[in-house]
Amino acid sequence: MRLIDADPLILKIKDYIEEYNDTDENGYHNLKWCAMKESEMVINNAPTIEAEPIRHGRWEKHPYEREWDVCSCCKQGTKRREFGVNDKGKEWVTEYSYTYCPWCGARMEEHYEID
Ligand SMILES: [Zn+2]
Repeated sequence: MRLIDADPLILKIKDYIEEYNDTDENGYHNLKWCAMKESEMVINNAPTIEAEPIRHGRWEKHPYEREWDVCSCCKQGTKRREFGVNDKGKEWVTEYSYTYCPWCGARMEEHYEID
């Protein structure tokens, strides 16, 4: 499935309907006109679905929690990494990757660099 905007299609088809608007000596339209009228009807009767435009967001640094980031769209915080220290005293970090905000569904396009 692909989502398209039917309104410009209808306008284009109306142009064709006007272009092919000739009638013969009996008052009948030609096949092109009939096909365009039928196309207009098919598009006007096509089922519609509810769809929301994709929101694009990015992770922003949380104001005080270094393990958390904030969605630029809904401003909700999400834990995105964990820090710890191993036996030898060396710090480790585990990153949690989210391609979508778990709160609002925004597609996360960019990530800031971690200092
Ligand atoms: Zn969000």
